[in-house]
Amino acid sequence: MTHEMPKLPYANNALEPVISQQTIEFHYGKHLQAYVNNLNNLIPGTKFEDKNLAEIISEAPDGPIFNNAGQVLNHTLYFLQFRPNPSRKEPAGKLAEAINRDFISFDNLKKELNDAAVGLFGSGWAWLAADKDGKLTITKEPNGSNPIRHGLKPILCIDVWEHAYYLDYQNRRPDHVKAIWDIIDWEVVEKRY
Ligand code: MN
Repeated sequence: MTHEMPKLPYANNALEPVISQQTIEFHYGKHLQAYVNNLNNLIPGTKFEDKNLAEIISEAPDGPIFNNAGQVLNHTLYFLQFRPNPSRKEPAGKLAEAINRDFISFDNLKKELNDAAVGLFGSGWAWLAADKDGKLTITKEPNGSNPIRHGLKPILCIDVWEHAYYLDYQNRRPDHVKAIWDIIDWEVVEKRY
């Protein structure tokens, strides 16, 4: 199976000022493209060559195939969860109910996910994820990992590798993390729950 780049549902400059055109051009156009290319070069002749990303992330040993498959899925979920000027700035329906049940309020979820993203040492991802019963949890994943590695379903993510924000925010990771909430496409995120 050849893994493909996700197609962005917005223009490269459409997420400004939260994420600049230059960051999209490097982060999506260079970094993600490299992960896709690496994965496609690594899997031929291995038992992973016909597996989907979730299967590879669940089954591959730590190493280059796991790292690159993780980063392809992570960035696909990341880039597809955004839209410019979303019509609403908070979740609705079943996801909203689960957030209120498991995190008291949406404001408190934002605070806890931001704290996880800001507090993650080095490169990695902060995730909102769900277990098989629908209970929501926050995980901090190092490097290219994903909640699927622990049997959880990924719902929403914040990329805190420096390549995600350094051109726009330099060392100000907390400012970047706070701004991300303005461009979340809740209709996309709700469907993942
Ligand atoms: Mn990234």
